[in-house]
Amino acid sequence: MNIGDLTYAFSSQKSPIQKITSNFLTQKEIQLFIKRDDLIHAEISGNKWRKLKYNLIEAKKTNQSTLLTFGGAFSNHISAVAAAGAEFGFRTIGIIRGEQVLPLNPTLSFAKKCGMDLHFINRTLYRNKNKPDYQNRLKNQFGDFFLLPEGGTNCLALEGCSEIIQEVKNKHIDTDYYCVSCGTGGTISGIISGLNGEKKVLGFSALKGDFLTTEVFKLLNECVGKEFSNWEILTEYHFGGYAKWTPELINFINQLYEETTIPFDPIYTGKMLFGIYDLIRKDFFEKGSSLMVIHTGGLQGIQGFNNRFGNLIKT
Ligand SMILES: *Cc1c(COP(=O)(O)O)cnc(C)c1O
Repeated sequence: MNIGDLTYAFSSQKSPIQKITSNFLTQKEIQLFIKRDDLIHAEISGNKWRKLKYNLIEAKKTNQSTLLTFGGAFSNHISAVAAAGAEFGFRTIGIIRGEQVLPLNPTLSFAKKCGMDLHFINRTLYRNKNKPDYQNRLKNQFGDFFLLPEGGTNCLALEGCSEIIQEVKNKHIDTDYYCVSCGTGGTISGIISGLNGEKKVLGFSALKGDFLTTEVFKLLNECVGKEFSNWEILTEYHFGGYAKWTPELINFINQLYEETTIPFDPIYTGKMLFGIYDLIRKDFFEKGSSLMVIHTGGLQGIQGFNNRFGNLIKT
């Protein structure tokens, strides 16, 4: 695919905004909107589409035909890169953390079906993924490639995510808060940059710990060269850590699905929505507040989850 077609493919997709109504929200006087980035593309889902946009355009511009990236065995990013490679004509290499387990889980068998070369490395080696020495070794092994960092987060990714804001503005929906789930912090940084100091942004960390605040500061400094104070990372809604879960979380996701017919995944968006409803219950938001919740996708993860734990999440 040439660069014009690629740019068009990425620019023609806008995601719908949906308003959620319920007695609970009416009673709390909260307006809740969801930007359905999960609907952008069936396989290059949500924020991964946004983060890939300018990276893939850059790869085409610089005549790179191979994408190499990193991820865990259930990674939404790995899945999206594999699908993007198949759709837009890139060879893809996935460096996967941990030993290969056969049969491959749904994420990795999908990636393989898309043509991704999968290489498994142990966790110690995986920690070197950002080191130039290790990346040079990879170049010797695989030839030249365009490197996408783990989770797809870099300055080009922030640029893609910042476009969420213009899309919302074009629809003339003006909310007080933006809510988004966070892993590496790339998506929230793009949103903060797009808002340029307006509104308030809440990031719901899917991981334990408070490293994300530093990370987002770093990304904004490096990519935008500015400091903003209208954002906050909430670290109370990870349910024990990345990919950890409780029956309460699963019940909540299933209930919300019945109520809204919107699916949420148990790793990222389900935890964020749990957090949002908890905060509303506790009157964290002033009465009359309006929220724009970004549905970052990740629904491919539900199949892997249901495969491992029994079909707990309704689809
Ligand atoms: C990857 C992912 C995130 C995390 O995005 P970051 O930019 O790494 O913070 C959030 N939600 C979903 C569904 C994801 O797949």
